[in-house]
Amino acid sequence: MKITSIETLPVSIGVDRRVGQVHDTKGFRFTSHLTVIFIRTDTGLEGIGEVNGSADWSGETQIGSQALIEQNLAPRLIGEDPRRTRHCMDKLKSVFANPFAKAGIEMALFDILGKSLQAPLHQLLGGAVRSFDLPLRFPIMPVGPQETASAATRMVAEGFRTIKVKVGQDPLQFDLERIRLVREAIGPDVRLTVDANGGWSVNDAIRAAPRLEEYGVAFIEQPVHRLDLDGLARVRQQSRLPIMADESIFTPQDALNCIRKDAADIISVCPGKHGGLLNTMAIISLCEAAGVQCAIGSNLEWDIASAAMAHLTVAAPNIAVERYAADLIGPLFHVEHALTTPWEVVDGQISTPQGPGLGIELDRDRLAELRTVN
Ligand SMILES: [Mg+2]
Repeated sequence: MKITSIETLPVSIGVDRRVGQVHDTKGFRFTSHLTVIFIRTDTGLEGIGEVNGSADWSGETQIGSQALIEQNLAPRLIGEDPRRTRHCMDKLKSVFANPFAKAGIEMALFDILGKSLQAPLHQLLGGAVRSFDLPLRFPIMPVGPQETASAATRMVAEGFRTIKVKVGQDPLQFDLERIRLVREAIGPDVRLTVDANGGWSVNDAIRAAPRLEEYGVAFIEQPVHRLDLDGLARVRQQSRLPIMADESIFTPQDALNCIRKDAADIISVCPGKHGGLLNTMAIISLCEAAGVQCAIGSNLEWDIASAAMAHLTVAAPNIAVERYAADLIGPLFHVEHALTTPWEVVDGQISTPQGPGLGIELDRDRLAELRTVN
């Protein structure tokens, strides 16, 4: 089997974070400008992938990733056997960075491999180690204290058992007041986590930790700047709450450095930022060897990348989803979809698609309607 063409389609999908007006000082996305990838072969089999990079996460953009794929990635793969996933991804190694673009390509390669074997992606990754229904944590954006608490109440009523509050945007007192009200609203049994997206100083994070502990927060995600692993380690040393690293970890080398510095209890993984599933599995294994647990994170993936993430979560024992509910919330927040079989989110859980490869099929007419208009 040989790759005959790699094509891209830019699509723009609205995002509704379901919490009203967000104080957007950090560039939260309200439209996802994505790139859908089609890898075609001489057998007629086709694989689909998604690039959901964004300037704030990895410096990637829709136009940039399209250009990179067409000019730098695709030419290295034409004529190759797409089922040699690792070989194909090795050929892209000389292109620096751009993890989301590479992950999109790899997703499509795995989709072809799965379809050629009539096997779902999770089987290719070692097979299911847990239920296909994955618990989600609902992230509440930086809205006012009352709005934060009422969104939390609403989501718990919808069945979510973990609420994640985005903090680090405002004066520390404002964040703490939001957490206090949320805990009061949801009661003691619902799991509560916070994600500062690197927005706190080391001192603020250390000051916040005992108060968060008082409100029964389970862990603090990315309290300080992504490049400050020493700062992350200081927060961890001086806080009793577990620390999760997210934006700090893109490459396996990042994970190794984080482990060496004892900077995190938990590492949030997502195939996009790591450049694909193979790198993600490598990071998960590094973490497992070091006694660090992983959680499945998110860069607000759409239909295709969310499927890849669900398969990975099902197949990786060290993604402790029973303990750290999945950030797989793209299917929930994107207001438009192009799947022939829609996502099922019931009682705060999302079902992993079944069927060969990614296990999804795109409605091509719908997809064409979603094409980005410049
Ligand atoms: Mg995060």
